Amino acid sequence: MADDADVIIIGAGLAGLVAAAEIIDARKKVIVVDQEGEQSLGGQAFWSLGGLFLVDSPEQRRLGIRDSRALALADWLGTAGFDREEDFWPRKWAQAYVDFAAGEKRSWLRQRGIRFFPVVGWAERGGGNASGHGNSVPRFHLTWGTGPGVLAPFVQRAREGEQAGLLTFRFRHRVNELATSASSVSIVRGDVLAPSDCERGQKSSRETIGTFELKAAAVVVASGGIGANHELVRVNWPQRLGPPPRRMIAGVPDYVDGRMLAITEGAGGTVINRDRMWHYVEGIKNHTPIWTDHGIRILPGPSSLWLDARGRRLPAPLYPGFDTLATLKYIMETGYDYSWFILTRAIIEKEFALSGSEQNPDFTSKSWRQVLRRVVKGIPGPVKAFMDKGEDFIVEHDLARLVERMNALTGEGLLRLAQVESEIAARDRQLDNAFGKDAQIAAIRAARAYIGDKLTRVARPHKLLDPAAGPLIAVRLHILTRKTLGGLQTDLESRVIGANGRPVPGLHAAGEVAGFGGGGVHGYAALEGTFLGGCIFSGRAAGRAAAHKAG
Ligand SMILES: Cc1cc2nc3c(=O)[nH]c(=O)nc-3n(C[C@H](O)[C@H](O)[C@H](O)COP(=O)(O)OP(=O)(O)OC[C@H]3O[C@@H](n4cnc5c(N)ncnc54)[C@H](O)[C@@H]3O)c2cc1C
Repeated sequence: MADDADVIIIGAGLAGLVAAAEIIDARKKVIVVDQEGEQSLGGQAFWSLGGLFLVDSPEQRRLGIRDSRALALADWLGTAGFDREEDFWPRKWAQAYVDFAAGEKRSWLRQRGIRFFPVVGWAERGGGNASGHGNSVPRFHLTWGTGPGVLAPFVQRAREGEQAGLLTFRFRHRVNELATSASSVSIVRGDVLAPSDCERGQKSSRETIGTFELKAAAVVVASGGIGANHELVRVNWPQRLGPPPRRMIAGVPDYVDGRMLAITEGAGGTVINRDRMWHYVEGIKNHTPIWTDHGIRILPGPSSLWLDARGRRLPAPLYPGFDTLATLKYIMETGYDYSWFILTRAIIEKEFALSGSEQNPDFTSKSWRQVLRRVVKGIPGPVKAFMDKGEDFIVEHDLARLVERMNALTGEGLLRLAQVESEIAARDRQLDNAFGKDAQIAAIRAARAYIGDKLTRVARPHKLLDPAAGPLIAVRLHILTRKTLGGLQTDLESRVIGANGRPVPGLHAAGEVAGFGGGGVHGYAALEGTFLGGCIFSGRAAGRAAAHKAG
């Protein structure tokens, strides 16, 4: 059987497209197969917020942030907690990735037309210990144009490759098997799915209308994670995060199904760190769902009061936006898979952002006018839509009525007014002085020492029961599945490692399916904004290596 191309890429998400761009640049022929239709080109990255982890950038320096490769690496390693033999490649990837983020990443992306919003966000502020989890400084750079803005140059390069006869897309081609010929993984087999006219991101049919077989010198698996496959999430759920949630909502489209992991194992690849995953604790049900169980993540500022299902305040330092997995573990150990934010209109105005390109039309459409309106005009439109239509939001002037409606929403009646009121009153009393013992209030004050937070992200500290800041708002928060931190083990050339510890000839993997590099570049936890960048960095390495393999 003659080769159909030099390289076959499985997955037309960001990692696959970046790899394809490299192969086109090397003047090799590439086929990109994807189980979805053309309308979903770009995969998850299209829906993403486009936050990118950069180190010591001009944006940071302009805001007075002193960052360095050494500080970022210390933060990364303190967060990752690498402690396994199979962390050999993930650790190498982590070092290489921090070098990339502190070095050529920004200029490489700028050369491709990507631009950043001047205010740098501060995600995962950490567990309160300098050597432990979290970002010591703000590093979350929002791409102007959000996820579609990150994708644009790579989609454009793929289209140019198509025009030049170097790239062919095969949409609605679902891969079921990878096979070896002449000691190299080179054959890709699967089903041709019936055409689908569903909207981007909606669940498409799995009706098959035929089969296909393609052959090339090298294969790149770029098929994403497991986030939409809640069964697989539960099977891999680690005990250290408490019991798996009974109910979860999905932060990713249905096609993030994780099937290619087992298929690639079938071709000799090794999957490591299956138990490492990154799910959010601030999920809300989408009032206008696109995919199955569609949830949206709130990107919270630090001021909301966080209560468990019984109305008890979460302990320090489990504040909004500080330590995702420690909070997840705590919530799961309460025996309930939801929790509550209690906040005020003043807090929601300044502190609530929603993750996702479609929830940020101002940034996605690159409209300065709309972005400025967000700063001066109070509650952003998409957040207001959730307050009006989202089933998890309750708005009331009176605390007793708020708690009554919280109990009615869950139907469980777990909350007692006296308990909730005493948590709020104790917190509010700490605002009588400019100092006090409440570590969350201290953290809010400290955050406002950073000009970016003070201007755009952190409300002036105030009492939750101050009527001038009201009405009161309660938000029920679900566990929202998103990222897969483990995956196919790869070396620094994105070659998939086999059982003998050596690369499987012809087989490469990039993006989320490869744990964003190495089979888990993040270790146990992430610093945020590191996923898109991980797809770019590992996709680039895979494209270069696969083009080289093709000769
Ligand atoms: C709402 C949202 C917000 C996010 N925000 C951020 C952010 O701000 N910063 C950040 O760093 N990250 C963010 N992320 C994460 C990031 O977008 C993803 O991790 C990344 O885009 C994954 O890219 P990928 O190419 O590895 O996989 P995907 O985008 O999942 O693409 C994989 C493709 O492979 C196809 N495929 C799978 N299996 C098969 C098969 N068997 N046969 C054929 N095709 C197959 C799928 O159909 C899909 O098109 C966000 C994600 C979401 C959903």
